[in-house]
Amino acid sequence: MVSGSSTAMQSSVLALNRSFVAVHVVPVRRAICLLWKGMAEVISVENGSFLTYDLPSWLEVSELRAEFDEFEEHDDLLQSVNFVVQVPRVIRLLNYERVPRNVVKFSRRNVFLRDEYRCQYCDRKYSHSRLSLDHVMPRSRGGGNTWENIVTACLDCNVRKGGRTPKEAGMKLLSEPSRPHRNPVLTHQLNSRKYSSWKNFVR
Ligand SMILES: [Zn+2]
Repeated sequence: MVSGSSTAMQSSVLALNRSFVAVHVVPVRRAICLLWKGMAEVISVENGSFLTYDLPSWLEVSELRAEFDEFEEHDDLLQSVNFVVQVPRVIRLLNYERVPRNVVKFSRRNVFLRDEYRCQYCDRKYSHSRLSLDHVMPRSRGGGNTWENIVTACLDCNVRKGGRTPKEAGMKLLSEPSRPHRNPVLTHQLNSRKYSSWKNFVR
């Protein structure tokens, strides 16, 4: 039975294809499973070089780091009575050649992430439950569900704007909405220290 802090289990792992191209972001559980089956290896960025480990050698390295107290503040650990394993940040899929289509799925969550959970009218940050999607050009006037016409708005601003255009409502958009070039989940995580090693693989 493996346990870890909830942050450890909730962290994400960047999956590269055989040719070191970033193709997916997977949950830790999935990454460990792929490593366990020998379908992936750990890529660790250490002092600027990329080192690769299969699961047994990664377990060994984790043990050593634990023994010498070498973990850093932003490292996540999974622990059981018998072992400790550092959560890998990047894995490489050994049998996966494909390159993903570079199309970001249009979804509520991805719009919030693109806008960094910030109301595009009042510039305040809110939690998921206090945000809504606003049609810049109202639906009643043919405004579509597109990256270019949907923005994150807090509930107050959304009500205030009603079925009007920003101009009619006297409200100003923070920026012109557009389709993100990369997965907003990635953009979001690249900003955190924990996932800084991803920068080596994601442009
Ligand atoms: Zn607002």
